[in-house]
Amino acid sequence: MKDRFGRTIDYLRISVTDRCDLRCVYCMPEEGVERVPPDKILSFEEILEVAVTAAAMGVTKIRLTGGEPLVRRGIVHLVGMLAKIPGISDLAMSTNATHLSEYAADLATAGLMRVNISLDSLRPEVFANITRGGNLDSVLSGIDAAEQAGLLPIKLNCVVKRSSDEPDAREVAAFGRERGFDVRFIRIMNFARGEFYIVEGGRGGDCPSCNRLRLSSDGLVHPCLFSDLAFSVRELGAGKALRRAIEMKPKAGGPCTHNWIRAVGG
Ligand code: SAM
Repeated sequence: MKDRFGRTIDYLRISVTDRCDLRCVYCMPEEGVERVPPDKILSFEEILEVAVTAAAMGVTKIRLTGGEPLVRRGIVHLVGMLAKIPGISDLAMSTNATHLSEYAADLATAGLMRVNISLDSLRPEVFANITRGGNLDSVLSGIDAAEQAGLLPIKLNCVVKRSSDEPDAREVAAFGRERGFDVRFIRIMNFARGEFYIVEGGRGGDCPSCNRLRLSSDGLVHPCLFSDLAFSVRELGAGKALRRAIEMKPKAGGPCTHNWIRAVGG
């Protein structure tokens, strides 16, 4: 389906949980955030209904995200449900990979095609500081497991302050080259100020070519990461919420009051 600016909307990002086992400094306050009450979190059946409806409207690409998608119980089952939807030719996941060594093989068997993995530094102490206690080794094991399971191509998401020329980013770039993984560099965004940038090596941040909708774990379809517009699938039904989001998708992102990347995913 095309939006009013002629952009073809064929990509749905689904946040399956607002919870995360890491506390990245640019994403979450140290004390964490108020959790979405469990009864507001969409069930797998509700997520499936949105995905099936979106596929019927022309969505061909689905990415599972969060929060951290691997902390949602039953995630492998959800992947299996989504993988069977006719018309979905790309089923991917964004993950911090801390639990990926446990899940990679089952996710691949269930129909997940590929993963994007967050990796901001290869220095264990820097990684622990950025993630407030994360263990780099668990991520590296997760990356190995994803490769073995054939969740390819693996893409690494590296958040940078300004550019890919920073020392940690350069190390991640070298690691990517060595292992044959694409690396995308994402400059730290600021929601209140509406500051976002084109992702180096990726497609994000470029409003004229944006093809995305986002479904948050509490059932809101967000037409734009940098807008407060959102349409509830529980109130409107999946079809109407998706159509409204496409119709109302802003030409470009701007300042917004929320900071729901942690609930909606990047
Ligand atoms: N937990 C999963 C992961 O780590 O990939 C998925 C969700 S995470 C919020 C998605 C991406 O958003 C990550 O690559 C993360 O680094 C990025 N991110 C979060 N807050 C950001 C910010 N303020 N600026 C830039 N990137 C951000």
